[in-house]
Amino acid sequence: MTILAEWNIEEAERVYGVSRWGGGYFQIGENGNVHITPDPKNPGVRIDFKAVIDEIHEEGVQLPVVVRFHDILRSQVANLNTIFADTIKEAEYQGEYQGVYPVKVNQMREVVEEIVDAGQPFNYGLEAGSKAELLTVLAMNTNEDSLTILNGYKDAEFMQLALLGRKLGRKVVVVVEKYSELLLLVRVSKELGVEPIIGVRAKMTVKGRGKWESSGGERAKFGLTIAEIIKTARYLDEQGMSHCLKLLHFHIGSQLTDIRAVKEAISEGARIYAELHKMGFKLDYVDVGGGLGIDYDGSNSTNESSRNYSMQEYVSDVVYGMKEVCDLEGVPHPNLVSESGRAITAHHSCVVTEIVGEIRSNSAEIATQAEEGEHVFVKNIRELEDTFDEQINMQEVYNDASQWKEQALDAFKLRVLSLEELGKIETMYWRIMTRLKAHYANAEYVPEELQELDYSLSSQYLANFSVFQSAADTWAIDQLLPVVPLTRMHEKPEVNCSLVDITCDSDGKIDQFTIGREITDVIPMHSLRKDESYYVGLFLTGAYQDVMGDMHNLFGRLNEVHIFSYDDDPQDFYIEEVVKGSSVEDVLNIMQYNPKAMASDVKRLIDRHVASGNMNPREGVRWTDFYENCLSGYTYLKTSS
Ligand SMILES: *Cc1c(COP(=O)(O)O)cnc(C)c1O
Repeated sequence: MTILAEWNIEEAERVYGVSRWGGGYFQIGENGNVHITPDPKNPGVRIDFKAVIDEIHEEGVQLPVVVRFHDILRSQVANLNTIFADTIKEAEYQGEYQGVYPVKVNQMREVVEEIVDAGQPFNYGLEAGSKAELLTVLAMNTNEDSLTILNGYKDAEFMQLALLGRKLGRKVVVVVEKYSELLLLVRVSKELGVEPIIGVRAKMTVKGRGKWESSGGERAKFGLTIAEIIKTARYLDEQGMSHCLKLLHFHIGSQLTDIRAVKEAISEGARIYAELHKMGFKLDYVDVGGGLGIDYDGSNSTNESSRNYSMQEYVSDVVYGMKEVCDLEGVPHPNLVSESGRAITAHHSCVVTEIVGEIRSNSAEIATQAEEGEHVFVKNIRELEDTFDEQINMQEVYNDASQWKEQALDAFKLRVLSLEELGKIETMYWRIMTRLKAHYANAEYVPEELQELDYSLSSQYLANFSVFQSAADTWAIDQLLPVVPLTRMHEKPEVNCSLVDITCDSDGKIDQFTIGREITDVIPMHSLRKDESYYVGLFLTGAYQDVMGDMHNLFGRLNEVHIFSYDDDPQDFYIEEVVKGSSVEDVLNIMQYNPKAMASDVKRLIDRHVASGNMNPREGVRWTDFYENCLSGYTYLKTSS
């Protein structure tokens, strides 16, 4: 990855690709800060990320924080619904679009509330996949014209709750995932005397391509085979309930990278729908599931962290694909349901953290002047350094230096070399490597071993966050996530680095980036300045990652700020709500500790030292208070700003 000597905003855009992955919401401003346009149709409202950070500090909220842009959520809900409505009109499709948001993608109450509110004009509904989610959506989705779709494995209680929803006048659809669920549903509904709305999930032969391809295919965990779907329809007929069968569902996986999988799934699903119709089962809805992908790496390709289509292309393939099959078969166009989660929530939240330190293998040096009786390894490597400019074969320089450093380590272990001598060799070794790197900086051909030099000489920036809490997918499934500095992008970045977090886990790092359309192990960042914070944003974290964080190293949840745009404000935004992240007490309680008892144990120890005269009483009180304050404080590092 070469960076042009001439640095400007265009070059920053080429390197960091903010507009490529930003979905119209994020840009690099002329002042080098990331800017947010929460509603791209209204470009007059533009928020400077630095102003958001300043206000976060003013509110006394500590970093790292999750920043949620509620307007982005609203924009995405409106986008999906209007694109479906417009495409349906253009295609002269006879059905309607009745989408649902699958809450598992981000169950945060504020997120679900915003989606429900923004979806009101479109009768946009909710989807649940577990009992806890079902209890949530029953309370949240109060629009009687929108759908509530229930997927996942179910027990009798789950069915009763669904039927409670029917009693309350909601369009609750129970999607049968396996045949035994059907028998249970029919039994429970007869017992309660409430008619269900029934859907069937088809096990598709088409597999989505990408990470989640096992959601489709014959070994899929969910869904009915064709034979089971026919058995279901016939059983309902026997029970006098065939009119309850209203929906056909399929879901071939999340983050579908290739549009061809969508096309194939639609043709297969449409054929099943049409055949059922001809058998006399007149379904109202076809639910195409989730899978609408996000371009995390900005490549618009079939890379695992990208997709090769837009939201409009996806919608067109669903609408036109369904219409084509139905027209051929002479059956009515069903209403269309989709369960897009990732596409709705990914953009709206990001994690803001601060770099708290730099780790380098060559950061410390000691004096290396010659000394009487020094070991020959020290002499050798000094000679190599002194004659560096006269050397012709640089590969040989690398080999010699590396060999001597390795031998020096062995010699040290054998007590032949002193600690001081080993330190000198290390110092000179890294100086030689730095010069080698400079030598090859603009070379056309770089020998293979020396290509690694860039990485081994690169810095690691230590960021105040936990990968396991805030970017779980980068660790668990190697997903790429856009990471960029939030300020100073008009300055040329001089440091190539990877990011490491503050957990005591060597997996707690991010070392995969998309830079200038290449996947690299380092990202160009700016050199740190004394007394000035350097802010880094992790973007597109709003789907899955947001709620999958764990307790690794007891860091827990982040502080959150909820941002609304507001045209009349000079900065175009205000912070509507601050949600406190985990305190040390909170995470300890989850792990079954009793922080109050811990505090009194420590106090008792301190009292004992005071009593025995080891500590004066004032000092004892100070230490007691300090321990208690730390218990109620934030789990992440306190930084000065
Ligand atoms: C997870 C899931 C979704 C959401 O998928 P996205 O790819 O996030 O849109 C939709 N439907 C079902 C059945 C799911 O399991």
